[in-house]
Amino acid sequence: MKSFRKVLTFNTPHRRDYINITAQVESALKDSGITEGLCLVNAMHITASVFINDNEQGLIRDFDDWLEELAPHEPLSRYRHNGAEDNGDAHLKRQVMGREVVVAVTNGRLDFGPWEQIFYGEFDGRRPKKVLIKIIGE
Ligand code: ZN
Repeated sequence: MKSFRKVLTFNTPHRRDYINITAQVESALKDSGITEGLCLVNAMHITASVFINDNEQGLIRDFDDWLEELAPHEPLSRYRHNGAEDNGDAHLKRQVMGREVVVAVTNGRLDFGPWEQIFYGEFDGRRPKKVLIKIIGE
């Protein structure tokens, strides 16, 4: 069995951002030389997510509005976690959107269903944060 590891770093310009990272994961898969196996992609921080959904800008804005309704950033006093930090909302948003995705690798490709794309969801950005790609297989 072969394994391949790569770390991506994002430093988003806004507190919340949503980035389609599918091309970067496909590039890692190509570099791995693995054609049959599994590809894990996970946020390495507890205030960011990796998730799969449609690359449609209306939907991305809907996710952001929905998350902000569920766990608004302000007032900061709403969250007991906010003392030295101001990211109580970001921890909750990450939990809803998930930590990681696993995609099957078949014939050297990410074996997606229709419209599936991989996104990095940032909820406490404007600083460098990492995403791990780990691919195992043959
Ligand atoms: Zn925190």
